[in-house]
Amino acid sequence: MTAPSLKIRETAILESTHFQKLLDGLIKRGYQVVGPTLGEDAIVYDELKSVTDLPIGYTDEQEGGKYRIKKQNDKAFFNHTVGPHSWKKFLFPSELRMWKAKRNGNTFRFLTDNEKIKKFAFIGVRSCDIHAIFIQDKVFTGGKFADPHYKLRREGIFILAVNCGKAGGTCFCASMNAGPKVSSGFDLALTEILKNDRHYFIVEIGTELGAGILHEIPYKIANDEEKYAADIVVKKTAEQICKSMDTANIKDLLYKNYEHPRWDDAAKRCLTCANCTMVCPTCFCTTVEDVTDLTGEHAERWRKWDSCFTMDFSYIHGGSIRSSAKSRYRQWMTHKLATWIDQFGTSGCVGCGRCITWCPVAIDITEEVSAIRESEQTTEKKTTEGLEEQRS
Ligand code: SF4
Ligand code: SF4
Repeated sequence: MTAPSLKIRETAILESTHFQKLLDGLIKRGYQVVGPTLGEDAIVYDELKSVTDLPIGYTDEQEGGKYRIKKQNDKAFFNHTVGPHSWKKFLFPSELRMWKAKRNGNTFRFLTDNEKIKKFAFIGVRSCDIHAIFIQDKVFTGGKFADPHYKLRREGIFILAVNCGKAGGTCFCASMNAGPKVSSGFDLALTEILKNDRHYFIVEIGTELGAGILHEIPYKIANDEEKYAADIVVKKTAEQICKSMDTANIKDLLYKNYEHPRWDDAAKRCLTCANCTMVCPTCFCTTVEDVTDLTGEHAERWRKWDSCFTMDFSYIHGGSIRSSAKSRYRQWMTHKLATWIDQFGTSGCVGCGRCITWCPVAIDITEEVSAIRESEQTTEKKTTEGLEEQRS
């Protein structure tokens, strides 16, 4: 019997035993399938050839400055939150050759370096990370000039999203309006259900392509009870989120507080290690290196991830503009949460919590914002009380 055709926004059921067929359908279409897998004692993103490459039965525990993976007594595929990697490693690689050239007498001849990019299928993309991709879209392609390397990679991607079944200890996506429910930007969106002896996925169709791929494998249309089960998963996850950031007037708050004592306090703790920027799914600073070989016959230009936390990043003509940890931490946080809004019309933060988890000294961006906001409110209160006293 042929399965009924699927429409966008329709919801279907995929048994976990058929998940491999979903991966096979993507591989058959020429996608390089990448997603969560175990590596270096963490859940990282790498190539998936088989469903067994997923971190089956593993979860993670996260808090400020701490990350651990843990084996559980279940067969869940996606019972973890985001790890040290983000999808930017595929769309905006950490090292990229911009051009290469060969000596030609007294000059150099540029050699064609046509990039052959495989289309990526991202498996297990969380809502916060879809929002991070939207932000990088604005950064790299939303202005007058588009980054051709990003554009080339971004155009062909397939997104298999996953609604989070648990919140990590550092997540604050809800207060950034970036999760935990996946709402757009996906081809297919899964909610994983393990109930009694049954393991299945409720699948929301996001695009015709997603519908076409799902149509090739065994599925059935979800009933109301199954749809409700998916809603409950997201609701429970939202209830687990214990961190938040108050973003009301955050741009003005930070612009008004360039000289706030909290920056000195953060600077005493900050190691300027740049971890926060490396793990952040939206940070995009780069440097450019020109290299040659010992013969002097070849030259290449490479673009590499850099960070506003390194001294060299702001080096201009004889010195660094941001030589102190205070100025670098302030630059990062103010850019992320304030100047980014002026530049790109959006915050640079999606509340994924990676910068909190991977900061070796557990500096927490939500606490830094709260500290500045609370001291402002205290000052305002004292000023009002003072004025009232004068009047009386
Ligand atoms: S600033 Fe931190 S919480 Fe916000 S998107 Fe970057 S890593 Fe995630
Ligand atoms: S805030 Fe933390 S992760 Fe970021 S540079 Fe400072 S010490 Fe490193």
